[in-house]
Amino acid sequence: MIIGQGLAGSLLADLLLKRGKQIMVYDEGHLGSSTANAAGIINPVTGRRFVKSWMFDQLIEVALAQYQALQMSLGVHLIRERNIVRSLPDRKAMNDWLMKSQWPDYAPYVVEEPGLEELQEFLDMQGLWSEVTGGYQIDLPVLIKAMRKRLLEMKVLREEHFKTELMHQKEGSVYYTDLQAKHVIFCEGFKMATNPLFESSVFLNPSKGENFLLKIPGQSMEKMIKRKFFLVPLQDDIYWFGAKDGWHFEDGSPSSEAYELLKRHALKLIKVPFEILEHRAAIRPTIKDRRPVIGKHRAFPNVYLFNGLGTKGSSLGPYWARRLIQHIEEGSSLGHEVDLCRFANQ
Ligand SMILES: Cc1cc2nc3c(=O)[nH]c(=O)nc-3n(C[C@H](O)[C@H](O)[C@H](O)COP(=O)(O)OP(=O)(O)OC[C@H]3O[C@@H](n4cnc5c(N)ncnc54)[C@H](O)[C@@H]3O)c2cc1C
Repeated sequence: MIIGQGLAGSLLADLLLKRGKQIMVYDEGHLGSSTANAAGIINPVTGRRFVKSWMFDQLIEVALAQYQALQMSLGVHLIRERNIVRSLPDRKAMNDWLMKSQWPDYAPYVVEEPGLEELQEFLDMQGLWSEVTGGYQIDLPVLIKAMRKRLLEMKVLREEHFKTELMHQKEGSVYYTDLQAKHVIFCEGFKMATNPLFESSVFLNPSKGENFLLKIPGQSMEKMIKRKFFLVPLQDDIYWFGAKDGWHFEDGSPSSEAYELLKRHALKLIKVPFEILEHRAAIRPTIKDRRPVIGKHRAFPNVYLFNGLGTKGSSLGPYWARRLIQHIEEGSSLGHEVDLCRFANQ
């Protein structure tokens, strides 16, 4: 059984079906799903200091392979190769970037002369800019929608809330209503916070992300732009703009504070008229040490967790889904950096 059909649950379902496993997925309609709001950016070099993303070379190879296979099997377009044009705050940042661009590990991602021409027509491109290549945008909302349709057709998805307290275990099996399963994998995103089996307050540090869907009539671009927030082309003249992150929040709904901030920055960046089509919010399953949290429950050997994809689900998800399946099937180690058991009492 897989509980949750966001990105984590969808990737596992795909891999398990390919291995000929019998599965049943529970999902309560992508309610509050982080995946449904995500821009799906894969950025090889991130942060103020231009650090190469953790395990990037291993992750990207596995990620592209699974997304390519999913494109074919689901008949949808998921992967777009996109450069990232990023604003630099000052000369020092520019020098840091130029220095890093000489390092062998970074050189493949550097565009020496950022290409700003197509952007200047409708964006304010004053100041210093860098351009990173080797980035991707994965259409995560389309992926989980198409996967849901496929799972429903196969009659292996139940659109309902899974009540963990009704589950019980006996003689190496897990029982839930009319089902008996060998294993259950919880992929509940931030809703793990209410799962009574895990003391997630020890490691979960959820972050709220708010974004706009914008319509910029008559404009198109292939690149993703970052100046405080990301501007990412989705389709035709529709763009994703965000995200305003929050670590202290009362609920998962869009806030007026984020609306004003995003609007102010959108007006600064976009020189032509645009329309705010939607203001959205969702809560990411972020972990205190910024690593995924995966593995077997300390007390219940048939119960697993696949969570903590945080801000980088599109690159982390496929690799760690595969590693979890190898762990369950072959007993291979997950490694202390991601294993659930790194946290006390888990
Ligand atoms: C605004 C925003 C922007 C983002 N941008 C990016 C980005 O550019 N790049 C990137 O890599 N990542 C990004 N992310 C992060 C990304 O969304 C996550 O890393 C990833 O999608 C998390 O997937 P998940 O399956 O763990 O969780 P979710 O997508 O939240 O899925 C959990 C699912 O489980 C269901 N569920 C939970 N509990 C139960 C239950 N008991 N019974 C039934 N169903 C249940 C929920 O309804 C939901 O459908 C962004 C996130 C946000 C919010």
